[in-house]
Amino acid sequence: MKDEKIHPLKEIWAGYKNLIVTDPVIEKIAMDRYDHCHTCEKLRSNRTCSICGCFMPAKVRSPKSKCPPSVGKWGAVSDEGLRQLRIQEKSKKI
Ligand code: SF4
Repeated sequence: MKDEKIHPLKEIWAGYKNLIVTDPVIEKIAMDRYDHCHTCEKLRSNRTCSICGCFMPAKVRSPKSKCPPSVGKWGAVSDEGLRQLRIQEKSKKI
């Protein structure tokens, strides 16, 4: 599959939007990602990453964002991946 490119500002916007307007699928992705950040020596006490400088509560909620390649603890979620996760979540409710 072709790598999906997104403008960095759109990634940031998506993260902050999802921090304010919560979505159960995004929250699951965020919690899985944040588990890695919690045990990472690069996470500062103000919840920013010392490598990318991002505020992690927002960044983990941006599907297309990923942990910096030099560390690579978690990756981006494609549109198709997100669609599959939404189908799985919906089927649990039935
Ligand atoms: S984004 Fe990656 S490098 Fe930064 S704190 Fe999280 S796990 Fe660590």
